[in-house]
Amino acid sequence: MRMVDIIERKAAREELTTEEIQFVVEGFTAGSIPDYQMSALLMAILLNDMNEREAADLTLAMMRSGDTIDLSDLPGVKVDKHSSGGVGDTTTLVVAPLVAACGGTVAKMSGRGLAFSGGTIDKLESVPGVCVEQPIKRFKEIVRSIGVCVIGQSGDLVPADKKMYALRDETSTVSSVPLIASSIMSKKLAAGADAIVLDVKVGSGAFMRTVEDAQKLAKLMVAMGKRLGREVVAVVTDMNQPLGMAVGNGLEMREAVQLLSGDVPEGDPLYEVCMLLGTQMLRLSRLAGSDEEARKKLKAALESGKGLEKLRAMIHALGGDESLLAMNRIGAICAVRRHVPVNAEQSGYIAGMQAELIGRAAQFLGAGRATKTDPIDPAVGLLMHRRVGDRIEKGKPICTLYVNDEAQLNDAIETMHRAVVIGKEPVQAAPMVYDVIR
Ligand code: URA
Ligand code: CA
Repeated sequence: MRMVDIIERKAAREELTTEEIQFVVEGFTAGSIPDYQMSALLMAILLNDMNEREAADLTLAMMRSGDTIDLSDLPGVKVDKHSSGGVGDTTTLVVAPLVAACGGTVAKMSGRGLAFSGGTIDKLESVPGVCVEQPIKRFKEIVRSIGVCVIGQSGDLVPADKKMYALRDETSTVSSVPLIASSIMSKKLAAGADAIVLDVKVGSGAFMRTVEDAQKLAKLMVAMGKRLGREVVAVVTDMNQPLGMAVGNGLEMREAVQLLSGDVPEGDPLYEVCMLLGTQMLRLSRLAGSDEEARKKLKAALESGKGLEKLRAMIHALGGDESLLAMNRIGAICAVRRHVPVNAEQSGYIAGMQAELIGRAAQFLGAGRATKTDPIDPAVGLLMHRRVGDRIEKGKPICTLYVNDEAQLNDAIETMHRAVVIGKEPVQAAPMVYDVIR
């Protein structure tokens, strides 16, 4: 088999065979296929697409490129969730403990934030003492004893994706739907869950900028799950403004604790998306027969404080100071030198937001990274005071910046002004949920 023939076939819009796809992934991971040939193939895939069978074969080949985790000795249905990036999206810290409090088994590996989007692992580390690198044996012990554990990706999970993603980033081939689907699904399959709930974000703070593209990605991943023997449900949700009000690692941990303490009202977007994801997870876990029953169980776990107890137990098991996860102490993880309001320059209604820019503003303050190895400040970020559609008066704060290092404070302020558009007429905010695909 020759790589040049495979490139030629994809360039001619032909369907690649299972053997060809396996050859490409193996060769590229091992280094026998050079970057320039892989780049050409990735571009041909971006332009000419892959069908469901090709995408499933690519996913399996990528999954087999490294270690896989066997969770089969843990009891019950092991359920995982994944959100395709976003701003102010704290759902994992809320949903994983809530599902565990309802009897579910959540064994999850999460990533760090990159560029404008946050990562659950960085949020966990905002609690002093937390160690997100745990041996698989310990990870499973924690899941067995409390029903939930979230750690960083350990070992050599899907090395093909690490190499391919870096190359895609540099060759402008990230946005291909089958390449995104196989990147996400290969990691989810390697991490060993039986059932997976996917939250595909759409909007100004997401990879997918149109609902149609997001639905295409969601449908492909659900279909691939069926082919590959895992149950997958995908939801398509809005990312045209931050999901919660907090953007920043400690601030988002605080918001999760507030929600689990009953301080975020029903109907709030973060609350509702958490309920939606939790509902799908409980149903896939066979712990609820209907959406209504699932929501009732999740609400009971929230209102009784059992969800917050699970989060505290997990933080304790990871070595963190769980006593900070209480409403009267949680402020300590987002204590900063200065609070700086960003005030509206005119009166009107919030007409729109660029969620990506809001993530970038938080990044300027030190909440996110420009490169994988940059340090982050867990306490800094921003707290939004308005949502799309809200009225605001000139001089009133749109948000409050949480600041330690002021070197890029002016960039952050200027970026927030660009991110939030104020208009004269009231506007309707986008729906929170566009689709649920089973
Ligand atoms: N998230 C991933 O893990 N991979 C992609 O390709 C895009 C988003
Ligand atoms: Ca996320």
